[in-house]
Amino acid sequence: MTRFLKLLIRNRLAALGGAVILAVVVLALITPLLPLQAPNVTNTADRFIRPFSPGHLLGTDHLGRDLLSRLLWGTRLSLAVGASAAVIAAVIGAAVGIVAGYFGGRIDNVIMRLVDMLMAFPYILLALAIVAALGPGLMNALIAVAAVNVPFFARNIRGITVGIAGREFVDAARLAGMGHGRIILFEILPNVVPVIVIAMSTTIGWMILETAGLSFLGLGSQPPQADLGSMLGEARAALIAAPHTSVVPGAMILAIVMGINLLGDGVRDALDPRLRSGALTRPMPATSVRRETVPAPQGGGVLQLADLETRFEIGPRIYRAVNKVSLEVAPGECLGIIGESGSGKSVTALSIMGLVASPPGVITGGAAYYRGDDLIGAPYRRLRSLRGDRIAYIFQDPQATLHPLYRVGDQLAEAIRVHHSISRAEAEDRAIDLLTAVRIPNAESRARAYPHELSGGMRQRVGIAMAMANDPDIIIADEPTTALDVTVQAQILSLLDDLRRERGLAIIFITHDFGVVAQLCDRVAVMYAGRIVEEGPTGTVLDAPAHPYTRRLIACVPELGQGRRRLEAIPGLPPAVDRLPAGCAFAPRCDKARDACTAGDIALERAGARAVRCLFPEETLT
Ligand code: SF4
Repeated sequence: MTRFLKLLIRNRLAALGGAVILAVVVLALITPLLPLQAPNVTNTADRFIRPFSPGHLLGTDHLGRDLLSRLLWGTRLSLAVGASAAVIAAVIGAAVGIVAGYFGGRIDNVIMRLVDMLMAFPYILLALAIVAALGPGLMNALIAVAAVNVPFFARNIRGITVGIAGREFVDAARLAGMGHGRIILFEILPNVVPVIVIAMSTTIGWMILETAGLSFLGLGSQPPQADLGSMLGEARAALIAAPHTSVVPGAMILAIVMGINLLGDGVRDALDPRLRSGALTRPMPATSVRRETVPAPQGGGVLQLADLETRFEIGPRIYRAVNKVSLEVAPGECLGIIGESGSGKSVTALSIMGLVASPPGVITGGAAYYRGDDLIGAPYRRLRSLRGDRIAYIFQDPQATLHPLYRVGDQLAEAIRVHHSISRAEAEDRAIDLLTAVRIPNAESRARAYPHELSGGMRQRVGIAMAMANDPDIIIADEPTTALDVTVQAQILSLLDDLRRERGLAIIFITHDFGVVAQLCDRVAVMYAGRIVEEGPTGTVLDAPAHPYTRRLIACVPELGQGRRRLEAIPGLPPAVDRLPAGCAFAPRCDKARDACTAGDIALERAGARAVRCLFPEETLT
């Protein structure tokens, strides 16, 4: 809650809207306590007195009634009616939407066709028809406004519920024997409440306007009772002669609706899980860069990272996700980056092409040289021309990265045509060649399939084909086999190995599995808490790990055919990268730690092809 309020206040427009609404609500609440004149007492001798006259701060209306008093009493009424209509519409609409979305089938069909019928009418006409049927009056106006907004909530909440009802935790609740009522109350409802709150916060302003509209037409509040709409309606005849009678309620309606809308937008942003994680703005097309010096390229290789530093700045906290990482990969080479979750592997890979979401991500130092050109801070056009063309990515979950509504062949053809001006037919032929190259049987017919029609392994092959589409120099594969079963995993690894050998591709393979590294990678870099702690040829590192963390990671891997042995889990958890301990970040989990390990920064010592960041390594590097 504190975090939500902090985010809301950081958004200046939302804070302004909130301040306006707070002031209006406080004024409305204390109206009965204020020394105001009676709002309905007429005095025709004092008609149309101008604002700032003695005894009438905002002047009087056509019957000599004090406008300040009527404004405050009218605001109180309009707010109460608008807010009540919003709550009623939200509760009924959400209930209808949840029932339709949860049960689906015929129940959903019947309910949603009724909702569609209501939505087919222009809502103001529908509201007029309801008030005409029930008779004029504020309560009937409230019913009409609530009724015409029920379909809006029902449609919104039904859509969200359909997605939630198919999720695994709902299936788990069913398997646990929970009934429909309990599932709806304890599984579905908590997930749709934020959406209901967001929808209410953005629609309450309309409802106040709609209620004012009905009162303006004489169908809401009845004389002499004042609400903002009826005050405007009564002031119509004197618009030219006494404009203040219209301006006073009009300005209040404007302030309330603007305030609610600004606040509603702020509430929506503050409840958005991604924006909540640190930023109230949408991500930029490339990661923002704020570095003071640019290190010179030091080695060769098609891609070289030099002292790369990427942080996430979330409020006062700074998460050093990538901390002075230097790596290089040569053409045709496969470099494995291995480490536990949160060690900075993926952020390192995403930083290369400026794909870290920014804000909150910022690259604060280092460089990423592709064929001698620094990509960090390169113009967006340059990055776009390289993304998917010279440097391609394969992600862990192809289901999430393939567009669900386009056929895979079309998606492949599009990936080619983004970078090369060739005809659609040529691109489609190339797409089929790519599917054949990644060993998808019946490539021609598979090209016409949608992603959901393919198995997990097939989809990952399409992901690889997509990465290969423009014959890139480098493929960055971010745990592409984690979600696959072992037989498919072995096929995918052998496919990647063949492709890199045939085409001279450089591969950066991110994984947490030493078995995968052993099968595919020429060299391996071990990451811990955002830093490289060991690097070297795969065989040498596996046979004689130098860093205690690498040794413990290898000891966690079960070996088939080596008899029963106890797997040595690493005690504790990696440190949070916003509170890194002094010295070696692995010290709290290291069985060889000594006082010197926490005394100061520990450098990555290089010897030949190997490097280690440890004061007391398991092996002396030669
Ligand atoms: S520096 Fe010390 S604490 Fe860190 S890994 Fe080496 S021996 Fe362990």
